Order: sequence, then C-alpha cells, then structure tokens
Amino acid sequence: MVLKVAVKADSEEAKKEKRKVRYVQKHRPIFKLVEKIKLWPSRSGILHGIRSITKDGNFMIIETHCNKVIKARISKNGRAARWLRNKWAERICKSCRIPSWKISKFANTLFK
Ligand SMILES: [Zn+2]
Repeated sequence: MVLKVAVKADSEEAKKEKRKVRYVQKHRPIFKLVEKIKLWPSRSGILHGIRSITKDGNFMIIETHCNKVIKARISKNGRAARWLRNKWAERICKSCRIPSWKISKFANTLFK
C-alpha cells in the first residue's frame, strides 16, 4: 500500500494512530464515507484533504484545502469509493497539508 510509506513515523501522534484499527462499513454511502474521512483521491491519484463537502442531488461538491472544487457523482461503486476502500493513492497533495495522523488513521481503517 502506497499510503503507509507517506506516513511520517517520527510523529508521536502518528505512532499512536498506528496502533488503533478502525472499521468502517464497506457499503456505507460514499457521501457519508467522504464526510467522515475528509480525504479525496483525485483522478490523477493525488490524495487531497477536504475543507468542505456538500450534497447537491446526486452529486457532491467537494472543496479541498488546496482550493480545488470537485463535483463528483454519488455512486457506491464509483472510482473514488473504490480507491478509498482500497486506500489507493499515488501521492499526497502537498498544498493540502494533511496532518500525518490523519493519513495514519485512514491507513488503519479497514473497510468490511
Ligand atoms: Zn490538495
């Protein structure tokens, strides 16, 4: 898994988070999932931090910390849902400044 590499092991918070394992229902609606995790994998494989997320019909409007606005269809088996479940990301957005504990928390969340 790519994400684990990105976790700074020197952070105390990250170490603490590493020990905890969380479970999230696999078929939790994508909107609820994203709202909880506050992370968004972009199409180019970059993981962004979410500043705000709102629902608009069958879409969700996501504003990232790096000021990108993404409109994504709410779909249980959509690309983003799949990537989140598989924790797949090529790299983490530097502009979003996602704290390392948040990445660890996500990396330790099991979807089942
Ligand atoms: Zn970003």
